[in-house]
Amino acid sequence: MTTELEGRDKWRWIFEAGWRGLCPHCGEGRMFRRWLKVSDRCEACGLDYDFAAPDDGPAFFSLCFIAFPLLFLVVWFEVAMNPPWWAHLLVSAPLMIVPCLAALHPIKGWLVASQYVNQAQEAGTGALWAGLNARAKRDAEGRTPYATAAEAAPVAPAAPVAVPSALSAPASDALAERADG
Ligand SMILES: [Zn+2]
Repeated sequence: MTTELEGRDKWRWIFEAGWRGLCPHCGEGRMFRRWLKVSDRCEACGLDYDFAAPDDGPAFFSLCFIAFPLLFLVVWFEVAMNPPWWAHLLVSAPLMIVPCLAALHPIKGWLVASQYVNQAQEAGTGALWAGLNARAKRDAEGRTPYATAAEAAPVAPAAPVAVPSALSAPASDALAERADG
């Protein structure tokens, strides 16, 4: 389905799926399990969300396109109105924070949807699934040997340190002689 999406349709599909938090494959299942937690699997079509890795993208875009422009508004508010400090607490802080947090959800949705659509277009759906399955399998197999190897690695016993004996014998002999004489 996504392989037929071209140009404007593709971006409209990404926009809608991301904005409404819907599965980028079927457009029916929900993309998010909780507020910003991407589902493991689409409940409607079974799409595996393993490909979804927007990382810090949502926070970055939210800062760039929401927080930064709003900062100008806050600065204008300060310069033009010269408000008392508590006005910033009541007006500026919510003005900065609320839109940024509100924007995280659709931004993350757009990133996940565009990741899905672009990867599906590049590779064709069959190759995409083959690649994703191979990666998941490799991850699952790769983790176990590493863990057990680290645990089973023999710890080198500490080498015994040879302590030279009778180090102070000559000194004590000399003291004894001096006391005698
Ligand atoms: Zn789906």
